[in-house]
Amino acid sequence: MKEYLEALEKENPSYSVPKNISLTDPQSRWTAATGERAFYAYSTNYLIDIDNNIIVDVEPTPSVRTAEVESTQTMIERVEERFDIKPNRLIGDTAYGSAPMLEWLVKDKEIEPHIPVWDKSVNKPDLFSNAAFIWDKDSGCYRCPGGKTLLSRRRNFRNLRTGITKANTIIYRSSQLDCGTCQLKEQCCPNSLFRKIARSIYEESRDVARVIAQTPEYQQSRKDRKKVEVLFAHLKRILKLDRLRLRGLSGARDEFLMAATVQNLRRLAKLKYKPPDCRIAVPI
Ligand code: SF4
Repeated sequence: MKEYLEALEKENPSYSVPKNISLTDPQSRWTAATGERAFYAYSTNYLIDIDNNIIVDVEPTPSVRTAEVESTQTMIERVEERFDIKPNRLIGDTAYGSAPMLEWLVKDKEIEPHIPVWDKSVNKPDLFSNAAFIWDKDSGCYRCPGGKTLLSRRRNFRNLRTGITKANTIIYRSSQLDCGTCQLKEQCCPNSLFRKIARSIYEESRDVARVIAQTPEYQQSRKDRKKVEVLFAHLKRILKLDRLRLRGLSGARDEFLMAATVQNLRRLAKLKYKPPDCRIAVPI
């Protein structure tokens, strides 16, 4: 029991405390992610070489979105360390498009993020969206559609403040005086005295992902992403891995690793195997 609890503590990082805990496998997570009835589960996360459809690394996690996204960093670093290879681009869905993740890919690893940017700002249809405000890199401020500036601070404080919020953003505000006389106010901030824009401290990396999203290569990446889904479907339908036999995260690791190995062997066999020419020549 002591060993079990120690392993549990070691392997379970500080994700939010779950509402339901399995009495037989406390490391698993109660999830309804499949859209069917909820159940306790682990997730298998793959790093795939898209060109050859080969699984390069596997990382099991409890079924928590944060853990699944973090596992990508673990796998990229492990593959780099073990095989000295690093992807040129990383394809993923919006869950992987959080600002810190994009920053890590672009700035730390120099990997192209072929990932949609996770944007929580709500754009109302009749109002100017945040995209209508142009970022002026040299002066470090936004320029609004009316040509005025939005600043992060309008007076000097004795003690310099970073102005970074808990959500890792800096708030830029327009001047109340400018907005009060502006003809565009109804389309901009009809219910407030001025306009606010929250800029992520990782916005440069988010912009890199936005630029990539406009390219034909990104469209190709979206198509390539289907290959990943096929592997997971294959795991359930063909290999029938819809139930784990071993308990705990380490048990899930063993089973997921084994399943991925089987999938790779099947794939390698297909890549290697060329059917012999069986056509029999009949003399005329
Ligand atoms: S309302 Fe204010 S922020 Fe909006 S366009 Fe006019 S001056 Fe710029």
